[in-house]
Amino acid sequence: MEGFLQAVSELVGADRFLGEDAVGEELTHDEGLLTEPVVPIGVVFPESAGEVAELVRLARVHRVPLTARGSASGLSGACVPAPGGLVVSFARMNRILEIDRENQIAVVEPGVTLDELDAALEPHGLMYPVRPGEQSASLGGNVSTNAGGMRAVRFGVTRQNVLGIEVVLGTGELIRSGGKFVKSSSGYDVTQMLIGSEGTLGLVTEVTLKLQPLLPASATVLAPFDTLAEIATAIPEVLRRGLTPTILEYIDALTMGVMVENEKLDLNIPDEMRRRAAAYLVAVVDHRSESRVEEDLETLASLLTEFGALDVFVLPPQAGRGLVLARERAFYGAKAAGADEIVDVVVPRASIAEYLELAGKLAAEHGSFVAGCGHAGDGNVHLAVFQRDPALRERVLSALIGAGVALGGAISGEHGIGTAKSPVFMELESPARIALMRRVKDAFDPDGILNPDKIFGAER
Ligand SMILES: Cc1cc2nc3c(=O)[nH]c(=O)nc-3n(C[C@H](O)[C@H](O)[C@H](O)COP(=O)(O)OP(=O)(O)OC[C@H]3O[C@@H](n4cnc5c(N)ncnc54)[C@H](O)[C@@H]3O)c2cc1C
Repeated sequence: MEGFLQAVSELVGADRFLGEDAVGEELTHDEGLLTEPVVPIGVVFPESAGEVAELVRLARVHRVPLTARGSASGLSGACVPAPGGLVVSFARMNRILEIDRENQIAVVEPGVTLDELDAALEPHGLMYPVRPGEQSASLGGNVSTNAGGMRAVRFGVTRQNVLGIEVVLGTGELIRSGGKFVKSSSGYDVTQMLIGSEGTLGLVTEVTLKLQPLLPASATVLAPFDTLAEIATAIPEVLRRGLTPTILEYIDALTMGVMVENEKLDLNIPDEMRRRAAAYLVAVVDHRSESRVEEDLETLASLLTEFGALDVFVLPPQAGRGLVLARERAFYGAKAAGADEIVDVVVPRASIAEYLELAGKLAAEHGSFVAGCGHAGDGNVHLAVFQRDPALRERVLSALIGAGVALGGAISGEHGIGTAKSPVFMELESPARIALMRRVKDAFDPDGILNPDKIFGAER
């Protein structure tokens, strides 16, 4: 191990390498509520794809696990160091390499954060539409978790917005896949295989992103309802009628109360209505012109009223932005309130009502409590689960996730499996699919050095 660490330190220079003793606490965990911190044998900060390839070759020779690290805003423990392993931080590979206005494409290094990209694109009248709740997240982390967020209902998730990738495989080979083109029918899609692979198949060194024009006209709508079921029933209809909201979320009353309190939101909802509402629908409408926004607002308001909205408020711009930001930060409210885990099951959009009713019952049966909000337009719920007892918590998490899968959904809509959900992944996934995924992992990473304890669990 000494030889390996010496070689790593010589490769990048002493100022870009931290030995175990110098690793700060902040480098041992992510934001996951259930993930245990792990101290790595060191942290290295490469500055080029060539250095990353050399690091992988060294790790292969010495059989040392490597865990890629972006901004560590992940919620499933996916960037927590593998025990006995080295962390490869992409914080120093943070250059925006190109903004191509004609093709509406940006090429970035993986350490670029969403905030940095937004700031660089705005003067060009462009934006990258994927917006997971944490703007400090890196593009490398977004690719590796297939990040989603609130705007996915209109623009899709990372998978629909990454056109190409440069990556170092577990073999040390540096390959490119995809590029500045929007379609390809040229063999297996390696780009898509890498997206969502949580650093287990390759270390991403460059990403080519599809951009969208910034739309100047915007409005935020807030509609309180007596029941969550009414919102869940209205959602499919909003989309079926051809409306194209950029954001379509549900927030239960408890979560809204915490958001209003924590973020000092002034939404101007009459007291009586606030006391009565069990849940809220939030929609953002963006278009090229105010008239198009107005037209959509009219249709939306009459539709939501038809489905039981107590009222439909078009918020003043500042309050609207505040609400969206507060929704993005809802995780911190749940954490402060003592939530023990966040479940991000995705179900078919039209099954949200059924799922949420089931989730409440399952939680009660296990002496637990759930509350939350979610990307209703995507069928993606975010349930804060309150259960202190670890054994009971494991059972209720398995029941909640299992219920989503049984309704035709999936274990995680966007936060990934990491270590937090690997037990339930191994329990609920089809054995044949797990076996295939393992063969894919072996092809990309024959020695199993890339984030080996993630997705499939520590047994690897
Ligand atoms: C308040 C809050 C709200 C959030 N809301 C959302 C949301 O709405 N939607 C959503 O999708 N997520 C959400 N997240 C989760 C998180 O922001 C995303 O998962 C994000 O994509 C993680 O990016 P990161 O740079 O922090 O990655 P990290 O946490 O550092 O890493 C995540 C994974 O990516 C891998 N990785 C990182 N860089 C590379 C690389 N260069 N090559 C290969 N693998 C790499 C890591 O090994 C790990 O497996 C939220 C998080 C917080 C704290």
